[in-house]
Amino acid sequence: MPALIPPQRKLEDAFSRIRTYLGRRFPRLRKSTWEWCKDLRESVRTGKRRAFMHVGHKSNSHVCVWPGTERLSDSHLYGLFLHEFGHIGQGASEAGADLWIFEHFGITIEYKGPKCLEWVGPEIIRSRFGG
Ligand SMILES: [Zn+2]
Ligand SMILES: [Zn+2]
Repeated sequence: MPALIPPQRKLEDAFSRIRTYLGRRFPRLRKSTWEWCKDLRESVRTGKRRAFMHVGHKSNSHVCVWPGTERLSDSHLYGLFLHEFGHIGQGASEAGADLWIFEHFGITIEYKGPKCLEWVGPEIIRSRFGG
């Protein structure tokens, strides 16, 4: 049986791998941080988009994460974080966030699963982030 990874550690691991990778080209991203945000609970319950994470709540370089996000697959987790970094890089536009990641890093964020959430392939996680 695989060891259980505490939620905080799983999120921190993905976040810091992405921040390190993107921060090589955009040093200002290295200051980015994340924390759990209970304000997201209602939007998750009602099934709104942008439900699992958001930026701009505490600052424009701070990512809020819904407690429960750690139960998503790594592909969704990395996809969500990359999308939020796209907001930090580019601004509030939803399509623009994904485009920013694609233009600067050649990573395509797809939308998959019953909730149609951000998703990147396992080979991207392996080759870019060593995850
Ligand atoms: Zn928040
Ligand atoms: Zn967004």
